[in-house]
Amino acid sequence: MPAVTSGKVLVTGANGYVAVWVVKSYLEKGFAVRGTVRSESKAKHLRQLFQSYGDKFEIIIVDDITKEGAFDEAVKGVDAIAHTASPFHDRADDPSEIIVPAVQGTLSVLHSALQHGAQSVQRVVITASCASIFEYGATPRVFSEKDWNERAIREVGEKGRAAANGDKYCASKTLAERAAWDFWNKHKSEVAWDVAVMNPPYVYDPVLHEVDKPEHLNESLTLWWNAVVAGKLTDEELVTIGFGWVDVRDLATAHVRATTTPEAGGERVIVSAGTYKDQDFVNIAHRLYPKLPAGNTSYDPAKAVHMISFDASKERKLLGIKYHTMEEMTRDTLEDFIKRGWISV
Ligand code: NDP
Repeated sequence: MPAVTSGKVLVTGANGYVAVWVVKSYLEKGFAVRGTVRSESKAKHLRQLFQSYGDKFEIIIVDDITKEGAFDEAVKGVDAIAHTASPFHDRADDPSEIIVPAVQGTLSVLHSALQHGAQSVQRVVITASCASIFEYGATPRVFSEKDWNERAIREVGEKGRAAANGDKYCASKTLAERAAWDFWNKHKSEVAWDVAVMNPPYVYDPVLHEVDKPEHLNESLTLWWNAVVAGKLTDEELVTIGFGWVDVRDLATAHVRATTTPEAGGERVIVSAGTYKDQDFVNIAHRLYPKLPAGNTSYDPAKAVHMISFDASKERKLLGIKYHTMEEMTRDTLEDFIKRGWISV
């Protein structure tokens, strides 16, 4: 049950929405960070952002995460690894476009840790998802770490390209997480490190990574923008579309605590602040900035039916995150959008 309280952490896909906050959290806790990005052009913003940390922040280019040995250099000398790099979008036609990088990317990090990290690596934290846990069903259900999204794998197996894009993504995360556990179970007697898996639902809150305009936001914030700022959802959608959510800052803290907490080793952990319907965000946003859409004014949160929710009690016991509230998350996200000149209120 190793745990890492100091030293250097490798963060894969360091330029992503979640990853930049993860990097920031490690640096703030005194760790040094080595980030991987796919090309030099993706490193520039990060170098500027974390300039004040001097040589405690460095970048390595890994151009193809699916290649065996891709992370051989990157893992050398690090004490822990946070593997966040994985595609999250709804543009995959052939499911393999999203499944291969998710699964092979995960396996190549673990393989490099096995081959070249033996001297130093003690913990590998993987950014998984509630996508690998929940399944759609006819009745409301609370999901826990015991559950696996077998349905998405079945759907994609049966329908291939015709499967829903959401199912392709869910299958990618389920297969990647399962591959990680299989790899670790097979090799755990050979290595000094263990694995902790973070399973967040939708992640929201301000942007630190490089984004030039709202149209280029990452997947989760695009959904939030469309619902809260752009007013693109129907009244019906606003009160029916919902899921679990977590503030990106809290998810970043969870990665750090999963690194420093011995008992997190060998655990998959749901990191969720609670459930929402999109109208919940709209209500807060409209109250703070009345020029933003009011949405469906007949919504009664007390009557909302949450078909999917997550039991985060393991996280509360193990990591003890104090979650940002929905009000804080909405306020801070909007303030960020205003500062960027994306909305005028
Ligand atoms: P982003 O799209 O912002 O970041 C994804 C990161 O993964 C980027 O660094 C990206 O690199 C890299 N990446 C994607 N595809 C590939 C590929 N084929 N080869 C190499 N690198 C790749 O997404 P998020 O920050 O939102 O997601 C980060 C992680 O968090 C993912 O594992 C995702 O599944 C998980 N997650 C996210 C949630 C959310 O709501 N945002 C919810 C639950 C889990 P590049 O910029 O070069 O494309």
